[in-house]
Amino acid sequence: MQMEPEQLEMYLMYKAMKIVDPKIDKVMSCPFCKYFEVWTIDNSANFFYCRKEGCQKGSCSVCFKEFKVPKGMAVTEDELEEMKSEGGMMSHYKCYEHKDIKEAWEDALEKGTKRCCPECKVGGVKDDACTHMICDNCNTTWCYLCGKKEANCDKSDPNGNIYRHNDDWNTNSKRCPMYLTQIGQVDERWSTASDEEAKAFFHKLLTYKSLKNFFKKHKSKEFKNLCKVFPSVANHGLDLKELKRMDLTIIKR
Ligand SMILES: [Zn+2]
Ligand SMILES: [Zn+2]
Ligand SMILES: [Zn+2]
Ligand SMILES: [Zn+2]
Repeated sequence: MQMEPEQLEMYLMYKAMKIVDPKIDKVMSCPFCKYFEVWTIDNSANFFYCRKEGCQKGSCSVCFKEFKVPKGMAVTEDELEEMKSEGGMMSHYKCYEHKDIKEAWEDALEKGTKRCCPECKVGGVKDDACTHMICDNCNTTWCYLCGKKEANCDKSDPNGNIYRHNDDWNTNSKRCPMYLTQIGQVDERWSTASDEEAKAFFHKLLTYKSLKNFFKKHKSKEFKNLCKVFPSVANHGLDLKELKRMDLTIIKR
């Protein structure tokens, strides 16, 4: 998935900060305005308080929903009721309890939707042409299908360029085709009609592979609980039965 310019800027800034101070864990931004803070590993707060004049909203650091923040130091009876109510500040403690598994689920999903440059890890967007990628950020040439950089790709001529990675792809499992629409010639699950369809199928395989790993580490009961706490997770829209029975080999040769 392509990063918006603002996101890319924030990502690069975050990366630079992390080099300066490895304790920096993440950039937390207010869901309602542009205010953000840099949190370190030691800061594992449940709640995020926006300090921007005019916004000053409180939000859950896990589900990002807003809750009412008590006005003064002394909490009134009404405010306490509000805090304890459904959607109130205290109802978000259960979000925090499921924070790690929620993050693991989201990471697994994200891995399926994007392909990153093997050198600098910035996401690459494939156009509908070939599988050769040139990173916008660091200029590395890499292969969209196996994700390896040109230098590490298996080639018919070790000194050759990425085009030599495409030779004999239909019989050699270390090689990749130049176009995703070629794969259907040897593996009928893949669309030969359009690159868009073939790409969608590729990302489905990647997503399923990554979710299979997730379900190896987390029991289905844990996942059911996660769905109860976060409707956003419950509405994943994926066919988990298909995931279980599908052969996830990228190219069946
Ligand atoms: Zn704000
Ligand atoms: Zn929450
Ligand atoms: Zn790069
Ligand atoms: Zn490749």
